Amino acid sequence: MPDTQVLGATAHAAGSEAVDVIVIGAGIAGMYQLHSLRKLGLSVLGFETGSGVGGTWYWNRYPGARFDSESYTYAYSFDEDLLAEWNWSEHFAAQPETLRYLNHVADRFDLRRHIRFNSTVTAARWDEARRRWDVTLQDGATFDCRFLVTALGPLSAATLPRIPGTETFKGQSFHTHDWPHEEVDFTGKRVAVIGTGATGVQVIQTIAPQVASLTVFQRTPNWCTPLHNKPIAADEQAKIKANYPAMFEILRQTPGCYIHITDPRGTFEVTEAEREAFWEKLYAEPGFSIWMANFRDVLTDPKANAVFSDFVARKIRQRVKDPKVAEMLIPKCHGFGTRRVPQETHYYEAFNLPHVRLVDIKATPIECVTETGIRTSDAEYEFDMIIYATGFDAVTGAFDRVDFRGVGGQSLKEKWWEGPKTFLGLMSAGFPNMLTIVGPHNASTRCNIPRCIEQNVEWITGLMEHCRDHGITRFEATSAAEYAGAEQMLREFYGYQ
Ligand code: NAP
Repeated sequence: MPDTQVLGATAHAAGSEAVDVIVIGAGIAGMYQLHSLRKLGLSVLGFETGSGVGGTWYWNRYPGARFDSESYTYAYSFDEDLLAEWNWSEHFAAQPETLRYLNHVADRFDLRRHIRFNSTVTAARWDEARRRWDVTLQDGATFDCRFLVTALGPLSAATLPRIPGTETFKGQSFHTHDWPHEEVDFTGKRVAVIGTGATGVQVIQTIAPQVASLTVFQRTPNWCTPLHNKPIAADEQAKIKANYPAMFEILRQTPGCYIHITDPRGTFEVTEAEREAFWEKLYAEPGFSIWMANFRDVLTDPKANAVFSDFVARKIRQRVKDPKVAEMLIPKCHGFGTRRVPQETHYYEAFNLPHVRLVDIKATPIECVTETGIRTSDAEYEFDMIIYATGFDAVTGAFDRVDFRGVGGQSLKEKWWEGPKTFLGLMSAGFPNMLTIVGPHNASTRCNIPRCIEQNVEWITGLMEHCRDHGITRFEATSAAEYAGAEQMLREFYGYQ
């Protein structure tokens, strides 16, 4: 066994349970981090608000929730036996299957005994004298660790819209993130959905055939393209498994670690007929191919982007019968791919159903939620159910809910008030021995996320190993390193000079 004495919990605060490392969150990142650190021989403890593992896939049980990167590209890659034994049933697995997979991982690697469920961390305070973190849970229990790793998830702080009267509604209402564990019956229900991002699109297309009526409140339309999901046949399964090493090598090379490789040609380097044929082919391909395997300049040259946006607009016009509704669904304020592209399955056709209507809330804003429904500037609608698909306080939202206090009692929330300051999105000056998987600035938030999570976790595990082997009990990013990291990011990603 490795010598863990340096990290051993000898000087813990009276009354607290002490370990080498506390990991906050038992989603994809937290689970792998616990597994990796335990392999180093460190004592680990994970805290999780939910009653089970899975993070995003534990919470987001809304109808239609499923991958939009290929299942096998999304799964953990760190263990060959795990890869060999797990069979994905579909190219883009639905949430229940993904949650089953993550539970399988937890069982296979015996992770549950290190995780306290139903345990929300509310505060973590650095103790400089002892070089340790004191961690407090919502129920007042305290714990003590040398190193603190946050695996909070970039999209775990759901946001309800600030619409007056939301609390007065007498029917059922749900935010997609906090979807009930029990089945929700839509039969005979008059349902409203607010929000048309990737989540709203999945909900709308799934419940449209089940409800009595569906009213979609849209603020900004998005460019949505077909997912083309299908089951994985047995021979395909064998091919996917045989190809895992080569596939993960490709994923390491592509921006964002997706399976799709950008076409090296420029949009205007081919004839109009060739361009059209290529785009038809992409429109018929599964997943993000159309976004990521497109001509190299579609996302950077405004003229190329405009021509391609026209192509997708034509598709929407062909698929939506009512020309007025089609125009409402076609984005006018941004080009294709410059915002997240929702992946859809019969989304546009849902608006051809007689009981589905679309309300443009830029033209007729929502004034309030009433006891019986929603009032806009020009109409009053009655509903049995309101679904909020209104997104998240992304990335920093989950950090704000924990009172992190670093050197001298400095608050992380206050430090990040005018924008986060981090070193590589993994550390923040003034917060020693604290590591933030998928923290702000970390490229993971723009990634096929488990691929970048694994990279973050492995980097952190390497650092922990180094500390263990060299008797290091304190590390901290400097402000100069934060500044240099931010400069490099602005230069390399955003082209600032
Ligand atoms: P989102 O992209 O932030 O979309 C939120 C939607 O709610 C938008 O249409 C927004 O309109 C609308 N909205 C917000 N506040 C509103 C208000 N006060 N009044 C009216 N409308 C309001 O959130 P999301 O759809 O949950 O997606 C978040 C992220 O989750 C995605 O980017 C993606 O990374 C991830 N996701 C992944 C999958 C997957 O992998 N399969 C599926 C779903 C989501 P505006 O656009 O006008 O702000």
